Amino acid sequence: MNGRFLGADLSRLLGVEARLANDANCFALAEATLGAAKGRRVVMGLIMGTGVGGGIVVDGKVINGCHGIGGEWGHNPIPGESRPCYCGRTGCVETVIAGPSLERFYREKSGQQADLRTIVKRAAEGESVAVETLEHLRTRFGQAIAAVINILDPDAIVIGGGVGNLDLLYTAETRQAVGRFLFNPEVKTEFLKPALGDSAGVFGAAMLAVG
Ligand SMILES: [Zn+2]
Repeated sequence: MNGRFLGADLSRLLGVEARLANDANCFALAEATLGAAKGRRVVMGLIMGTGVGGGIVVDGKVINGCHGIGGEWGHNPIPGESRPCYCGRTGCVETVIAGPSLERFYREKSGQQADLRTIVKRAAEGESVAVETLEHLRTRFGQAIAAVINILDPDAIVIGGGVGNLDLLYTAETRQAVGRFLFNPEVKTEFLKPALGDSAGVFGAAMLAVG
């Protein structure tokens, strides 16, 4: 990020080999190996919270890729979206379905400030803008993740983070939303809640050291 190599610097200063990976890759590694997607060959781990990230694990190994951006679906563009992203591009997945983006969507439509938890509660009570906000999440998530499945075609997708915790992402309706944008007529991919809770990233980081 700043032209320095943190891993090499840490190794030198600590006198031991340091291995680094971002939170989404650590999360994906842990959930694919010990957690919800244990036993699946190709696993995508998503972090959907204040930002949107992801990591890919194949046969128990993280796929970092040529640039170290393997799995970073949060900065794919969503057609029809144009809001600027901190990365310098526009219409990124993160600008649409991250928690703050959904709260902004609700605020702009309703004139009211509410956090995601409150929006979910209001949607359950039938409040129209709250319902619209969650439908927006469902549709855009379907669109964004279908693009990922078209390329990687993972056996399982584990979804972490505050947005990933929402039950609506694991429903038949959301599966249909994915299907509307998928090359295959049927969606067979498993969408799984994490099994390791908030500790998944820490487990994954520890696994870097033993792997
Ligand atoms: Zn971006």
